[in-house]
Amino acid sequence: MKTRAIVIGSGFAGTAAAASLAQKGYAVTVLEKNAEPGGRARVWKQDGFSFDMGPSFYWMPEVFERFFARFGVQVKDLYDLVRLDPSYSVVFPAGEEWAVPADRKALRSFFDGHEPGAGKALDEFLEEAKVKYDLGMGELVYRPSLSWSEYAHPGLIGGLLKTKVFRSLRKHVRAHFKHPHLQALMEFPVLFLGAAPQNTPALYSLMNYADLELGTWYPMGGMGSVVDAMVRVAREQGAEFRMNEDVQEIIVDRNGRATGVRTASGTFSADIVVASADYHHVERDLLREEHRSYSPDFWKKRTMAPSTLLFFLGFDRELDGLSHHTLFFDEPLDLHSSEIYDHPQWPSRPLFYTSCTSKTDPTTAPAGHENLVILIPIAPGLTDTETIREQYFATVMDRLARHIGFDPRPHLVLKRSYCINDLEADYNAYRGNAYGLANTILQTGPLRPRVKSRKVSGLYFTGQLTVPGPGVPPALISGQVVADLIHKEIPSRTERP
Ligand SMILES: Cc1cc2nc3c(=O)[nH]c(=O)nc-3n(C[C@H](O)[C@H](O)[C@H](O)COP(=O)(O)OP(=O)(O)OC[C@H]3O[C@@H](n4cnc5c(N)ncnc54)[C@H](O)[C@@H]3O)c2cc1C
Repeated sequence: MKTRAIVIGSGFAGTAAAASLAQKGYAVTVLEKNAEPGGRARVWKQDGFSFDMGPSFYWMPEVFERFFARFGVQVKDLYDLVRLDPSYSVVFPAGEEWAVPADRKALRSFFDGHEPGAGKALDEFLEEAKVKYDLGMGELVYRPSLSWSEYAHPGLIGGLLKTKVFRSLRKHVRAHFKHPHLQALMEFPVLFLGAAPQNTPALYSLMNYADLELGTWYPMGGMGSVVDAMVRVAREQGAEFRMNEDVQEIIVDRNGRATGVRTASGTFSADIVVASADYHHVERDLLREEHRSYSPDFWKKRTMAPSTLLFFLGFDRELDGLSHHTLFFDEPLDLHSSEIYDHPQWPSRPLFYTSCTSKTDPTTAPAGHENLVILIPIAPGLTDTETIREQYFATVMDRLARHIGFDPRPHLVLKRSYCINDLEADYNAYRGNAYGLANTILQTGPLRPRVKSRKVSGLYFTGQLTVPGPGVPPALISGQVVADLIHKEIPSRTERP
């Protein structure tokens, strides 16, 4: 009989773990509380419109290639990827708009055009960032980070010492670029890690390399195409997916061993449990106190990645003048950032981001129509009410109207908002976080919650609250890392002599 593994949750991390474990000979069952897979990357379809409810920036395409290659398939056989050019647009104060070119030569001239010498500074910055990217994404990130000794490798240490790793990303950027808009452009990618640039180590300038060198891509059909491809691959490996199975308890025997889980529909026995649902929820709600590795005080002190207020909108006309991705940096970045991290409150002058996939993909809106997702980052744990959501809707629509030169509200035919209360209800997200635990200096590598329980044997964790961190590529990697660790520690019975 095969060793049985239960995976709680079917987001990128859980599905990656399920596919990898099934391939290694485990009998895998994925239990997902929602009606469809994908977790935070689910898709909402209504009246001919389709919306990615979570991630929209597809970065680091080779992470996806490397994942699918484990199963002998290539991305091109699964979904069509398009490189966006411009990668995205940024709207600065006074309506100034920068469309960031995808082509490296054009990008260099673009930098020079805004600050003499910035093209050369960009080359130097990205050359150094490439070293970090190659080491970080090729080596560091695929380790379970159970101890610092995993990093005691002369090649790694030597490589990292050649680069600026521990100074803040902000200082690193400012040592290269003086123009405030160029600084904002170079600081933007680390917002995906959930922390402010002044609190993020310069190790993460590897994100600039991912952004400006490797590019912004779009999977036709939206992020849901990637979810579908992953689930298909996992099923082909033999993993079973059961939707609408809300796990209510992880069963632990007298010897401190995980022996299965309980859902509303019954008990599922297992030899191994992999929890990809939010770590805090798993420990607080699914385990008895003596089986938890982390105290309430530990969680209180963590820096969570921001939450978000989202609007999913359908319009009965095209939104001329809007790019596929647009960042509205027309208000002060530092004020908004301090209202997320230092003095958590609803932002007084919010920055926001819009994603209009129908600019690239006609399948995501009816002909002559446009779909639009608006995302406002906010502090996790705020009071979320309908009245507050509507106030922000009015603010962002006014600014959007100014930018595109007409008020799109009379053309609105579909509207849904989504915020903290929904993130908590749909994903059991701690304080309604959108993308997990931030990658701050003190929440990197072995300083993050562990992939392996300290208290319960056979219980493992994966996903954006453990290593390596927030974002789709890290979640994909997290699932593979935990599967490889399990395989090393508890080989499937079928493999044992
Ligand atoms: C609005 C938004 C925008 C984002 N934008 C980007 C982006 O542009 N690019 C990018 O790379 N990343 C982005 N991210 C982050 C990215 O989506 C996440 O890092 C990634 O999807 C997390 O995957 P995961 O598997 O760790 O977690 P999840 O996707 O949350 O998966 C966990 C799963 O567990 C399930 N679950 C929870 N509790 C239980 C239970 N008790 N029983 C059974 N199942 C349970 C949940 O329903 C969920 O399906 C964004 C996230 C959000 C929310």
